[in-house]
Amino acid sequence: MAPSNAPFSTLPPSTPPERIAVKTAELGEGLTIGRALPSRQRRMVGAWCFLDHIGPIDFSNKHGLHVGAHPHTCLQTFTWMIEGQLLHRDSLGSEQVIRPGQVNLMTAGHGIVHTEDSLPDSTTLHAAQLWIALPPEHADIAPAFDHYPTLPTWQADGLNFTLLAGSWGQQQAPTRLYSPLVGLDLTSQQVGRTVLPLRPDFEYGLLPLAGTVHIDGKDFTPSDFAYLGIQREQLTLELASDSRCLLLGGRPFENPITMWWNFVGHSQALVAQAQRDWENGAPRFGRVVGDDNRRLTAPPLPWRTA
Ligand code: MN
Repeated sequence: MAPSNAPFSTLPPSTPPERIAVKTAELGEGLTIGRALPSRQRRMVGAWCFLDHIGPIDFSNKHGLHVGAHPHTCLQTFTWMIEGQLLHRDSLGSEQVIRPGQVNLMTAGHGIVHTEDSLPDSTTLHAAQLWIALPPEHADIAPAFDHYPTLPTWQADGLNFTLLAGSWGQQQAPTRLYSPLVGLDLTSQQVGRTVLPLRPDFEYGLLPLAGTVHIDGKDFTPSDFAYLGIQREQLTLELASDSRCLLLGGRPFENPITMWWNFVGHSQALVAQAQRDWENGAPRFGRVVGDDNRRLTAPPLPWRTA
Protein backbone atom coordinates (compact mmCIF):
# COMPACT_ATOMS: atom_id res chain seq x y z
CA MET A 1 0.00 0.00 0.00
CA ALA A 2 1.32 3.45 -0.90
CA PRO A 3 2.09 5.85 1.96
CA SER A 4 -0.67 8.38 2.39
CA ASN A 5 1.58 11.31 1.53
CA ALA A 6 2.72 9.80 -1.78
CA PRO A 7 2.28 12.17 -4.71
CA PHE A 8 -0.60 11.15 -6.86
CA SER A 9 -2.32 12.39 -9.94
CA THR A 10 -5.52 14.34 -9.42
CA LEU A 11 -6.73 12.79 -12.65
CA PRO A 12 -8.95 9.75 -12.61
CA PRO A 13 -7.25 6.64 -13.92
CA SER A 14 -7.55 6.60 -17.69
CA THR A 15 -10.31 4.41 -18.98
CA PRO A 16 -9.43 1.70 -21.47
CA PRO A 17 -9.73 2.67 -25.11
CA GLU A 18 -13.23 2.39 -26.52
CA ARG A 19 -13.24 0.16 -29.59
CA ILE A 20 -15.47 1.55 -32.35
CA ALA A 21 -15.94 -0.47 -35.53
CA VAL A 22 -15.01 1.42 -38.69
CA LYS A 23 -18.02 1.40 -41.05
CA THR A 24 -17.70 0.83 -44.73
CA ALA A 25 -19.20 3.48 -47.00
CA GLU A 26 -19.47 3.92 -50.76
CA LEU A 27 -17.59 6.84 -52.25
CA GLY A 28 -19.25 6.31 -55.61
CA GLU A 29 -18.38 4.10 -58.58
CA GLY A 30 -17.97 1.04 -56.38
CA LEU A 31 -15.20 2.56 -54.30
CA THR A 32 -15.49 1.36 -50.70
CA ILE A 33 -13.84 3.31 -47.90
CA GLY A 34 -13.67 3.01 -44.11
CA ARG A 35 -15.52 5.65 -42.08
CA ALA A 36 -14.28 6.05 -38.51
CA LEU A 37 -16.08 9.32 -37.70
CA PRO A 38 -18.83 10.10 -37.13
CA SER A 39 -20.16 6.92 -35.57
CA ARG A 40 -23.15 6.17 -33.38
CA GLN A 41 -20.82 5.97 -30.37
CA ARG A 42 -18.71 9.01 -31.14
CA ARG A 43 -19.56 12.05 -33.27
CA MET A 44 -16.34 14.02 -32.86
CA VAL A 45 -12.83 14.12 -31.40
CA GLY A 46 -12.27 17.78 -30.60
CA ALA A 47 -13.38 19.61 -33.74
CA TRP A 48 -12.46 16.60 -35.94
CA CYS A 49 -15.94 15.54 -37.08
CA PHE A 50 -15.31 13.23 -40.02
CA LEU A 51 -12.64 10.64 -40.77
CA ASP A 52 -12.57 8.53 -43.91
CA HIS A 53 -9.80 6.03 -44.55
CA ILE A 54 -9.43 5.67 -48.33
CA GLY A 55 -7.59 2.62 -49.59
CA PRO A 56 -5.04 1.37 -50.04
CA ILE A 57 -6.67 0.78 -53.45
CA ASP A 58 -5.20 -0.42 -56.72
CA PHE A 59 -6.89 1.35 -59.64
CA SER A 60 -5.05 -0.61 -62.34
CA ASN A 61 -8.26 -2.16 -63.65
CA LYS A 62 -10.68 0.44 -62.36
CA HIS A 63 -11.89 3.91 -63.17
CA GLY A 64 -10.14 5.70 -60.32
CA LEU A 65 -11.62 8.19 -57.87
CA HIS A 66 -13.74 10.97 -59.35
CA VAL A 67 -15.91 13.15 -57.12
CA GLY A 68 -17.94 15.78 -58.97
CA ALA A 69 -18.62 19.35 -57.89
CA HIS A 70 -20.12 19.50 -54.40
CA PRO A 71 -20.41 22.21 -51.75
CA HIS A 72 -19.24 22.49 -48.14
CA THR A 73 -20.04 24.93 -45.32
CA CYS A 74 -18.82 25.62 -41.79
CA LEU A 75 -15.95 23.12 -41.96
CA GLN A 76 -12.44 22.50 -43.23
CA THR A 77 -11.67 19.46 -45.39
CA PHE A 78 -8.29 17.98 -44.53
CA THR A 79 -6.61 15.50 -46.86
CA TRP A 80 -3.50 13.56 -45.79
CA MET A 81 -1.96 11.70 -48.72
CA ILE A 82 -0.08 8.48 -48.04
CA GLU A 83 0.13 6.93 -51.49
CA GLY A 84 -0.97 8.10 -54.94
CA GLN A 85 -2.11 11.52 -56.11
CA LEU A 86 -5.34 13.50 -56.30
CA LEU A 87 -6.19 16.64 -58.24
CA HIS A 88 -8.19 19.18 -56.23
CA ARG A 89 -10.07 21.99 -57.99
CA ASP A 90 -12.38 24.51 -56.33
CA SER A 91 -14.58 27.56 -56.85
CA LEU A 92 -11.76 29.89 -55.74
CA GLY A 93 -9.84 28.81 -58.84
CA SER A 94 -7.45 26.55 -56.94
CA GLU A 95 -6.00 23.64 -58.90
CA GLN A 96 -3.64 21.51 -56.86
CA VAL A 97 -2.23 18.01 -57.09
CA ILE A 98 -1.60 16.49 -53.67
CA ARG A 99 1.20 13.91 -53.34
CA PRO A 100 2.38 11.58 -50.56
CA GLY A 101 3.47 13.37 -47.40
CA GLN A 102 1.36 16.45 -48.20
CA VAL A 103 -1.81 18.00 -46.77
CA ASN A 104 -4.58 19.87 -48.58
CA LEU A 105 -6.72 22.00 -46.30
CA MET A 106 -9.84 23.62 -47.70
CA THR A 107 -11.64 26.07 -45.43
CA ALA A 108 -15.27 26.17 -46.54
CA GLY A 109 -16.58 28.78 -44.10
CA HIS A 110 -19.49 30.57 -45.80
CA GLY A 111 -19.35 28.24 -48.80
CA ILE A 112 -17.10 26.60 -51.38
CA VAL A 113 -17.40 23.97 -54.15
CA HIS A 114 -14.75 21.46 -55.14
CA THR A 115 -13.94 18.36 -57.20
CA GLU A 116 -11.43 15.58 -56.58
CA ASP A 117 -9.95 13.28 -59.21
CA SER A 118 -7.26 10.66 -59.28
CA LEU A 119 -4.79 11.16 -62.14
CA PRO A 120 -4.75 8.86 -65.17
CA ASP A 121 -1.17 7.69 -64.50
CA SER A 122 -1.75 7.16 -60.77
CA THR A 123 -2.83 3.57 -60.09
CA THR A 124 -2.85 3.46 -56.29
CA LEU A 125 -4.46 5.55 -53.60
CA HIS A 126 -4.11 5.58 -49.82
CA ALA A 127 -5.28 8.64 -47.90
CA ALA A 128 -7.12 9.93 -44.87
CA GLN A 129 -9.82 12.52 -45.44
CA LEU A 130 -11.03 14.47 -42.47
CA TRP A 131 -13.36 17.34 -41.70
CA ILE A 132 -12.81 19.91 -38.98
CA ALA A 133 -15.92 21.72 -37.74
CA LEU A 134 -15.55 25.49 -37.46
CA PRO A 135 -16.55 27.04 -34.13
CA PRO A 136 -19.52 29.46 -34.22
CA GLU A 137 -17.37 32.60 -34.32
CA HIS A 138 -15.61 31.31 -37.49
CA ALA A 139 -18.49 29.39 -39.05
CA ASP A 140 -19.18 31.98 -41.75
CA ILE A 141 -15.64 33.10 -42.67
CA ALA A 142 -14.52 33.56 -46.27
CA PRO A 143 -13.46 30.32 -47.97
CA ALA A 144 -9.77 29.54 -48.48
CA PHE A 145 -7.56 26.78 -49.83
CA ASP A 146 -4.11 25.87 -48.48
CA HIS A 147 -1.64 23.29 -49.74
CA TYR A 148 1.12 22.15 -47.40
CA PRO A 149 3.88 20.42 -49.39
CA THR A 150 5.99 19.68 -46.31
CA LEU A 151 5.17 19.09 -42.67
CA PRO A 152 7.37 18.63 -39.59
CA THR A 153 8.82 15.11 -39.45
CA TRP A 154 11.10 13.42 -36.95
CA GLN A 155 12.17 10.01 -35.71
CA ALA A 156 12.00 8.68 -32.17
CA ASP A 157 11.86 5.21 -30.60
CA GLY A 158 12.35 3.68 -34.05
CA LEU A 159 9.16 5.34 -35.34
CA ASN A 160 8.64 8.06 -37.96
CA PHE A 161 6.44 10.97 -36.90
CA THR A 162 4.73 13.57 -39.08
CA LEU A 163 2.88 16.44 -37.43
CA LEU A 164 -0.20 17.20 -39.52
CA ALA A 165 -1.94 19.77 -37.35
CA GLY A 166 -1.28 21.69 -34.16
CA SER A 167 1.83 21.49 -31.99
CA TRP A 168 3.80 18.63 -30.44
CA GLY A 169 6.68 19.39 -28.10
CA GLN A 170 8.79 21.98 -29.92
CA GLN A 171 7.22 21.15 -33.28
CA GLN A 172 4.49 23.26 -34.86
CA ALA A 173 2.51 22.28 -37.94
CA PRO A 174 1.80 25.09 -40.43
CA THR A 175 -1.83 24.09 -40.96
CA ARG A 176 -4.47 26.80 -40.50
CA LEU A 177 -6.70 25.93 -37.52
CA TYR A 178 -9.60 27.61 -35.71
CA SER A 179 -9.73 25.51 -32.53
CA PRO A 180 -7.15 23.65 -30.38
CA LEU A 181 -6.35 20.44 -32.26
CA VAL A 182 -3.59 18.00 -32.98
CA GLY A 183 -3.05 15.45 -35.76
CA LEU A 184 -0.02 13.13 -35.73
CA ASP A 185 0.92 10.35 -38.15
CA LEU A 186 3.17 7.52 -36.89
CA THR A 187 4.78 4.80 -38.98
CA SER A 188 7.02 1.85 -38.21
CA GLN A 189 9.31 -0.29 -40.32
CA GLN A 190 10.30 -2.46 -37.36
CA VAL A 191 8.38 -3.12 -34.18
CA GLY A 192 8.37 0.16 -32.23
CA ARG A 193 7.23 1.22 -28.79
CA THR A 194 6.77 4.81 -27.68
CA VAL A 195 5.22 6.76 -24.82
CA LEU A 196 3.43 9.88 -26.05
CA PRO A 197 2.78 12.79 -23.67
CA LEU A 198 -0.84 13.91 -23.98
CA ARG A 199 -2.72 17.04 -22.98
CA PRO A 200 -5.23 16.19 -20.24
CA ASP A 201 -7.63 18.87 -21.55
CA PHE A 202 -7.75 17.19 -24.96
CA GLU A 203 -9.73 14.14 -25.97
CA TYR A 204 -7.97 11.75 -28.35
CA GLY A 205 -8.73 9.06 -30.86
CA LEU A 206 -6.48 6.77 -32.88
CA LEU A 207 -7.06 5.05 -36.19
CA PRO A 208 -4.62 2.41 -37.48
CA LEU A 209 -4.08 2.98 -41.21
CA ALA A 210 -1.93 -0.14 -41.71
CA GLY A 211 -0.79 -3.09 -39.64
CA THR A 212 -1.46 -3.41 -35.92
CA VAL A 213 -1.24 -0.97 -33.01
CA HIS A 214 -1.16 -2.22 -29.43
CA ILE A 215 -2.81 0.09 -26.83
CA ASP A 216 -3.31 -0.82 -23.16
CA GLY A 217 -3.05 -4.52 -23.85
CA LYS A 218 -5.39 -4.48 -26.84
CA ASP A 219 -4.66 -4.83 -30.55
CA PHE A 220 -6.18 -2.40 -33.01
CA THR A 221 -6.19 -2.73 -36.80
CA PRO A 222 -7.68 -0.46 -39.50
CA SER A 223 -11.10 -2.00 -38.86
CA ASP A 224 -11.28 -0.40 -35.38
CA PHE A 225 -11.10 3.21 -34.22
CA ALA A 226 -9.76 3.61 -30.67
CA TYR A 227 -11.45 6.44 -28.76
CA LEU A 228 -9.10 7.36 -25.90
CA GLY A 229 -11.18 9.93 -24.03
CA ILE A 230 -9.98 12.92 -22.02
CA GLN A 231 -7.63 13.42 -19.04
CA ARG A 232 -4.91 11.11 -20.22
CA GLU A 233 -1.39 12.30 -19.49
CA GLN A 234 0.34 9.78 -21.71
CA LEU A 235 -0.26 7.01 -24.13
CA THR A 236 1.91 3.94 -24.62
CA LEU A 237 1.79 2.66 -28.17
CA GLU A 238 3.37 -0.38 -29.74
CA LEU A 239 3.37 -0.59 -33.50
CA ALA A 240 3.95 -3.90 -35.25
CA SER A 241 6.40 -3.77 -38.15
CA ASP A 242 5.14 -1.93 -41.25
CA SER A 243 2.30 -0.27 -39.36
CA ARG A 244 0.85 3.22 -39.49
CA CYS A 245 -1.62 5.10 -37.34
CA LEU A 246 -3.22 8.51 -37.10
CA LEU A 247 -3.59 10.13 -33.67
CA LEU A 248 -6.22 12.88 -33.46
CA GLY A 249 -6.82 15.15 -30.50
CA GLY A 250 -8.58 18.32 -29.57
CA ARG A 251 -10.37 20.20 -26.87
CA PRO A 252 -13.88 18.77 -26.71
CA PHE A 253 -16.07 20.82 -29.04
CA GLU A 254 -18.64 22.61 -26.92
CA ASN A 255 -21.17 23.47 -29.58
CA PRO A 256 -23.38 20.74 -30.96
CA ILE A 257 -23.20 20.69 -34.74
CA THR A 258 -25.58 19.52 -37.41
CA MET A 259 -24.00 17.44 -40.17
CA TRP A 260 -25.90 16.58 -43.28
CA TRP A 261 -24.50 15.45 -46.65
CA ASN A 262 -21.55 17.81 -47.21
CA PHE A 263 -22.80 20.51 -44.90
CA VAL A 264 -21.92 21.35 -41.33
CA GLY A 265 -23.88 24.04 -39.49
CA HIS A 266 -24.60 25.29 -36.02
CA SER A 267 -28.33 24.73 -36.48
CA GLN A 268 -30.65 22.70 -38.67
CA ALA A 269 -31.95 25.99 -40.10
CA LEU A 270 -28.43 26.96 -41.29
CA VAL A 271 -27.91 23.57 -42.93
CA ALA A 272 -31.35 23.77 -44.57
CA GLN A 273 -30.45 27.23 -45.90
CA ALA A 274 -27.15 25.92 -47.30
CA GLN A 275 -29.04 23.10 -48.99
CA ARG A 276 -31.53 25.56 -50.57
CA ASP A 277 -28.68 27.82 -51.69
CA TRP A 278 -26.95 24.87 -53.38
CA GLU A 279 -30.16 23.70 -55.08
CA ASN A 280 -30.87 27.24 -56.30
CA GLY A 281 -27.35 27.82 -57.61
CA ALA A 282 -26.83 30.76 -55.23
CA PRO A 283 -23.60 32.78 -55.72
CA ARG A 284 -22.57 31.74 -52.21
CA PHE A 285 -21.02 28.56 -53.61
CA GLY A 286 -19.51 29.68 -56.91
CA ARG A 287 -18.44 27.21 -59.58
CA VAL A 288 -15.58 24.90 -60.35
CA VAL A 289 -14.96 26.33 -63.82
CA GLY A 290 -15.47 23.73 -66.52
CA ASP A 291 -17.10 21.19 -64.22
CA ASP A 292 -20.81 22.08 -64.23
CA ASN A 293 -21.69 18.74 -65.83
CA ARG A 294 -20.59 16.85 -62.71
CA ARG A 295 -22.58 18.89 -60.18
CA LEU A 296 -23.76 16.58 -57.37
CA THR A 297 -27.34 16.81 -56.09
CA ALA A 298 -28.03 16.93 -52.37
CA PRO A 299 -30.39 14.29 -50.99
CA PRO A 300 -33.53 15.54 -49.22
CA LEU A 301 -33.05 16.78 -45.67
CA PRO A 302 -33.66 14.02 -43.11
CA TRP A 303 -35.82 16.24 -40.89
CA ARG A 304 -39.06 18.15 -41.45
CA THR A 305 -38.65 21.77 -42.42
CA ALA A 306 -41.20 24.52 -41.98
MN1 MN B 1 -15.64 17.39 -50.40
